[in-house]
Amino acid sequence: MTGRFDIVATDGAARAGVLETSHGPVETPVFMPVGTKASVKAVMPGELRDLGAQIVLGNSYHLYFRPGAERIDRLGGLHRFMGWDGAILTDSGGYQVFSLRDTATIDDSGVDFRSVYDGSQHRFTPELAMEIQRLLGSDIAMAFDECPPAGVERAKLEDAVRRTSLWAQRCRTCMPAPGQLVFGIVQGGIDLELRERSAAHIVSLGFDGHAIGGLTVGESREAMFATTRATAEMLPSERPRYFMGIGDPEGVIEAIAAGVDMFDCVLPTRLGRTGSALVTGGRLNLRNAIHADDERPLEEGCTCPACATFSRAYIRHLITQDEIVGLRLLTLHNLHVLFELVRGAREAIRAGTFSKYRSTRLSAP
Ligand SMILES: [Zn+2]
Repeated sequence: MTGRFDIVATDGAARAGVLETSHGPVETPVFMPVGTKASVKAVMPGELRDLGAQIVLGNSYHLYFRPGAERIDRLGGLHRFMGWDGAILTDSGGYQVFSLRDTATIDDSGVDFRSVYDGSQHRFTPELAMEIQRLLGSDIAMAFDECPPAGVERAKLEDAVRRTSLWAQRCRTCMPAPGQLVFGIVQGGIDLELRERSAAHIVSLGFDGHAIGGLTVGESREAMFATTRATAEMLPSERPRYFMGIGDPEGVIEAIAAGVDMFDCVLPTRLGRTGSALVTGGRLNLRNAIHADDERPLEEGCTCPACATFSRAYIRHLITQDEIVGLRLLTLHNLHVLFELVRGAREAIRAGTFSKYRSTRLSAP
């Protein structure tokens, strides 16, 4: 049944589960690559599937402007439009509206802002955000929330929590697409009292899952991890928990340890396009001349399409000559690293060896 979430194993606070969606089961912990404009940049749907992707993200803000949510609906919905038959989660567009906040003005009914595409004036409301996601036909829709940057004064943070609650309530009354799950978002910055308040109200609205929003917006790593641990505990264990916007291997492992099930981030694809590979213990910048004669793969033992065939020297050559295959190979490798990381975590949780897995991954040289 769509929306059913079974926890199959726990190890400490970490959990391994299965979330049923309209496009099949999603095994958690899961990493969701970001397909902002109906494409995970440089990667074909079949390649995503082969790498082990189960669910990808789409972005309401961008798809609303180009090519338009109604057009995607006419063309059969986002799955058919982008040729992806796995699950899709759409964000509400709130994050994009607020990350361009110098042009945004907010009140309790919605947000006025200028489009990044042509500067035209627009208004997003919770109702419009839900309608866009209904038209896109994603498997999981996100409630429209207010996400303030780190370091704002408490009164502003408090106001964002209040408004996020108000908007969540309105999102809850909107009709989703058939079989579409709706997740609520907890705000409150790194203020645990506000997190508590936000979590209590959002949970009371009976969403299908809960997201921890408003982190990785400029706060310190320690504060981010501490807030994640505390907030995860405030959320009911029987529903999936989603950390919005984390994708570095250490961050993902720590969030899994805190009891979070779902993650997304542009990091692996963006790093790939800027010439860097995620490797054990850090990153390789393939633009660096040190790789020019290096016959080794990006990572010894890696089974991704890049490492199976090609050397660092070759990939460096492609990157420095702006050959498109170079950034594709780095993107495939980086996605593979994230998928393997969470697959390993799922196995370790099932085997009861997650704390060992965690310390091995975090202490890698
Ligand atoms: Zn590789």
